Amino acid sequence: MADLTCPTCDARVPTDAAAFPFCSRRCRLLDLEKWVSGQYVVSRPMDARDVEELEATLEGRAPSREVEGDGHDE
Ligand SMILES: [Zn+2]
Repeated sequence: MADLTCPTCDARVPTDAAAFPFCSRRCRLLDLEKWVSGQYVVSRPMDARDVEELEATLEGRAPSREVEGDGHDE
């Protein structure tokens, strides 16, 4: 089975990684942030609930400084 590379940091990601296709939840959130930022600019406006969810997601990642780079979380 071929490994993929993490879209955020290009690390190899085993296909059974918890955050697949990202190497970690942090990378998944970083990618989400990037993706949503682009969406703000180029696509339709998000409604209020979308924005609330986004803010909760982005703020939720700030205080958690646990080491999650090894793909073994959860
Ligand atoms: Zn990564």
